[in-house]
Amino acid sequence: MAGETSSGGDGVAVFIARWIADTISARHDIRGQSWRLNPMNTELKSQIIEYSIKNVYVAEHFATSKCTCGCETFTVVMNEDEGVAARICTACESEHGIGDSDDFIDDVEEVYPIECTCGANRFKIMAGVALYDESEDVRWFYLGCECESCGLSGVYGDWKNEFNGYRKLLNNV
Ligand SMILES: [Zn+2]
Ligand SMILES: [Zn+2]
Repeated sequence: MAGETSSGGDGVAVFIARWIADTISARHDIRGQSWRLNPMNTELKSQIIEYSIKNVYVAEHFATSKCTCGCETFTVVMNEDEGVAARICTACESEHGIGDSDDFIDDVEEVYPIECTCGANRFKIMAGVALYDESEDVRWFYLGCECESCGLSGVYGDWKNEFNGYRKLLNNV
């Protein structure tokens, strides 16, 4: 994990600009994938739970992403090793650091665009978190995405996240 330097207000914008400039070709592999075309709130959630069980830290709380403009479809960039991800609204192009990503984004050298195996890159997003026992503090973070084009859903990234108070973290997905 990178240092705990707080970013300024333009952290995400710098982050995205760097991504575009780098024209990164690496693709992040999807895991626990499913081709069923179900409503995301059931299918994507079950994908995150299934994946998290294999990861030992079981996801218990979830939240979906919605832009301030009301749109729920995004392109996504991330760096799993650094534990950061950002979403760009497909309607208004607003950029938003997912969870506590803004706290770490300034220290991240590279981010990778998420792409579905079908080649599309517009997703609905759901985050899930596992907590420490008898605590509201986060232990592990899961990022699930569902392709708008083909409906494939799965976990695209997960990382250790020790945010204090899961509600606040999930309010910023
Ligand atoms: Zn928007
Ligand atoms: Zn797809």
